[in-house]
Formats: sequence, structure tokens, C-alpha cells
Amino acid sequence: MAYADDPKIIHKYIDVPNVKSILVYEEKAEGYAAWRKALSTMEGADVLNEVKSASLGGRGGAWFPTGMKWSFMPKDIFPKYLVCNGDESEPGTFSNREIILKTPHTLLEGFLLGCYAIGCTHGYIYVRGEMMKGYENLRRAVAEARARGYIGKNVLGSGIDLEVTVHTGAGAYICGEETALLSSMEGDRGQPRLKPPFPAVAGLYAKPTSVNNVETLSNIPFIVREGAAEFKKFGTEKSPGMKIVSVSGCVERPGNFEVPVGTPISTVVALAGGIWKGKALKGFFPGGSSTPMMTPDKFDTPLDPASITAAGSILGTAGLCIFDEDVDIVHVAARLIQFYKHESCGKCTPCREGNDWLVRVLQRVDAGRGKDGDLDMLVDMASQIAGRSFCLLGDAAATPVMSSIKNFRPDFEKRLTNPADEKTFIPLTLMEH
Ligand code: SF4
Repeated sequence: MAYADDPKIIHKYIDVPNVKSILVYEEKAEGYAAWRKALSTMEGADVLNEVKSASLGGRGGAWFPTGMKWSFMPKDIFPKYLVCNGDESEPGTFSNREIILKTPHTLLEGFLLGCYAIGCTHGYIYVRGEMMKGYENLRRAVAEARARGYIGKNVLGSGIDLEVTVHTGAGAYICGEETALLSSMEGDRGQPRLKPPFPAVAGLYAKPTSVNNVETLSNIPFIVREGAAEFKKFGTEKSPGMKIVSVSGCVERPGNFEVPVGTPISTVVALAGGIWKGKALKGFFPGGSSTPMMTPDKFDTPLDPASITAAGSILGTAGLCIFDEDVDIVHVAARLIQFYKHESCGKCTPCREGNDWLVRVLQRVDAGRGKDGDLDMLVDMASQIAGRSFCLLGDAAATPVMSSIKNFRPDFEKRLTNPADEKTFIPLTLMEH
């Protein structure tokens, strides 16, 4: 099998020089072969069924089966929409960004196939507001694809009309939440909506809408081109395929690594050159900064949703943030809660007010001016936010605070009256926007 030794799906051609140009993508990266195949030999329902057979879980963090999500879309209501969620903003997660910057046609081809599968004739790709180079890349890719007849009226003589619009956000983390993203696209404030109704019933402009992540859609060309059975040769039985793991923090070579789902965390970190400077591991987030922090005894846990859940955390986006023995965990927690407080949309009280209080108390602990009872109060406040907020940002904010105190309480106790000697800045993202 061609992929046996070093399997790659999305990253197979990512380092081909100038693969972001459509000519190179077509000539050297099997570009648009899947789109041509689908239009000439498959109905939209066939594409949907192939994706369903592949059991492709959503790579944006929820791991919900993509084919099943698409099958929830009503068949007799038009228009309906496919929206690509490219609002990647979670600290420690940067796999989508690399796809958009280096191989935008892989995403675009998967997006066109997704539109075809659900019967959408005008789809939207929503790109994080800070990612202007990515936005320009995608606009250029759409123009190139239109010029080649892959987008527009009567695509490749198939009788199908299909338009694509690239849309930017305005810099809000919460617009990665699918209903906030849709509100933002409609020109409203980017705040989450009550569910139900779910987007599949009433999404963009109150029409049936599927919102899918960049990495999820970028897997579709392979599935259509090679077939679901080939895709399922990688990964685990419950979660087949590959996952791009973003590795950041205290490693020798941070970056994105595409590995079979279920690869042990320690193996992925070895691909990134191991823990830097020969130091020991102190702890890590397995799936971006909003997932519960894990300890070194879990370092060999396979990176698949079920195994990470069984080990007490969440796989999420597989943004692996590594902290060495010298990292000041109190400072990490204090810095992260500042981020989530800043990104709270303000719609619900537990998140809006609770995060503000978490910041105040954690900052005084971080500064060595903590009081007796502060740690219990922090855990109590965080537990009033998690599970009691309107959307998952509340849980995202509370989780790193609760898990870091749970796993590293002696560090927090020591710091109550001792300011840090030196603050350690850990870069959780590393690629240019
Ligand atoms: Fe907004 Fe936070 Fe409430 Fe979500 S949890 S709706 S981000 S205030």
C-alpha cells in the first residue's frame, strides 16, 4: 500500500512547491480528480454515503460523524447551505491554518464535494478575521477554480450550478462556535444561539445548514478518490483516518504532524523532537488549552477520542500543548483564563461574571498575594461556570483552572505567598497568520 510506511492524507502533497496554485495542485497532487470523479460517476447521495461509510468524525473537536451530520439535512427544503468553519482560534491549535496557507485547493475541493453531497448550490467558507493571508489565499483559489470550470454555472458541463463565497470573521474566538459563526455571517453580533433548532433545521438565514471544519472537509477528496475502505485502513475502528496534531510548547520542533488516529502521545511528541533541552515532562493539554490538563503518567495514551476520554481528558482538536518541568503552571492557568475572559461574548452571567472573578483571584495568586481559601474558592467558582453557561466557552474557561489546580495543587499552594521568580512564556501557536 502506498501509504503503509508513512501514511498521509491531507499532508501527502503539502510540501510540493507552490501546491497552492491550481496548476501544480492538478499536475502533482491529484488535484480535483475526486471532484471530476464525483461529477461524472456519482450522485450527491453517493458522495454522502461514501463519507458515511468512511465514519469520518468531525476534526473540529466534536468528532461527530460527518456523513450522519449531512444526512440530517432535509432533502426537500431549498436553499440549503454548507458553511466551512475556518475560525480556528483555540490556543495551541493551528492545523487548519497550515492547510489554508499551504494547500487551499485541498480544502476547496473537499468543500465542493460537501456541497454536492448535501445539495447546496451556494456555500460559504468562513475564515478567522486575523488570518488575512489565508483569506487572500482562499479567494485566489476560488478564482482559479472558477476559471477552470470547477465553480460557477454548469460546472464541468454537469448541469450543476455552484457558487462559493469566502467570508472573514472579525477576530472573535466565540465565532468558532457554529451558531455564533452563523450570526456573525448574517451581520449580527457573534453570539451563540439557543439549540434547538439546530443548524441542520434552521441555520444560515434560517435555512438548513451544515457547518464543517477545515480539516474535516480536507479529508473528503481522499475518501471520494480512494474510497471509504482505503480511508478506514488508518486510525482506530471507532475513529478511522488520520489526524493532524498541532504540537506546541516545550518541544524541539513544534509544528503540525499528520498521524493515524490512535497514535500514542509520546510518539507524536517524538516526531516533534521530544521534550526540549533534555528536560522532563510536567504536564500537557491533549486537545487545545480548553481540555483538561494531563500528567506524565498518561503520556503513552493513544490519541483517539475514546482513549483520551478514558484517561480523563478530551481529544478536542488534538492541539497538543507540552509543558516541561520548569513551566510555571500557575502562570499558565492565569494567562489562559485572561484569554477566555477576554473572549467571553457576555451573553450569559456565569461566563461573563465568573471569568472576570477567576482572573482577579488567579492574578493575585500568580503575584504571590493569595489568601487562605483562594484555591478552594477558585475551584468552586470554576465549577459554577462549567456546565452552567450558555455555550461551551464557559466549560472551556473553567476546565484549565480546575484541572491545573487538581493536578498541581502544591504548585498553587506554594505560590499563594510567593511570587514567581521568573515568568516563562510558552508559545502555544507558532505560524504566521
Ligand atoms: Fe457567551 Fe460565554 Fe455565555 Fe458562551 S458561555 S454564551 S461565550 S457569555
